[in-house]
Amino acid sequence: MTSVKRETPVPCNGCTECCRSGQGLFLHPDRGDDIDSYRHRMMADPATGQAIWLLAVDENNACVYLGDSGCTIYARRPLLCRSFDCRKHYLMLPKQDRDNLVALGLSSRAVFNAGRSRLKTLSREERDECRSIQKEFFFYS
Ligand code: SF4
Ligand code: SF4
Repeated sequence: MTSVKRETPVPCNGCTECCRSGQGLFLHPDRGDDIDSYRHRMMADPATGQAIWLLAVDENNACVYLGDSGCTIYARRPLLCRSFDCRKHYLMLPKQDRDNLVALGLSSRAVFNAGRSRLKTLSREERDECRSIQKEFFFYS
């Protein structure tokens, strides 16, 4: 019998690092995000030249939808905000890649630290799965 891995929700507990730490807040129109319903900016992907879309940010690099009490569009937040798990983000990437992403401004040390501090809230199956993904895709780790 195949066991179903438990998806444990991220215990953010008031943390809003994802929304204000300057990591890329990508929109995914191909996976259901209605781009025109969000304030956004478009860029050319430096690698491919193809268009990519990101949520707009304010002068402090925080998402324009972040309010004093958290997300002001919580019920309709885009896919990335609904699915991102900082714990898995931390576990699946080798240190070298985490450092590179931070250096490139594509991720944030604060988000990685938030993930690391919450690792024990993942189920054992989820942690094992993340580690096996790292081994499979990052052979040098
Ligand atoms: S960094 Fe982690 S804990 Fe903080 S808001 Fe993002 S998902 Fe939640
Ligand atoms: S849409 Fe909401 S959850 Fe997503 S980054 Fe902005 S404030 Fe955070």
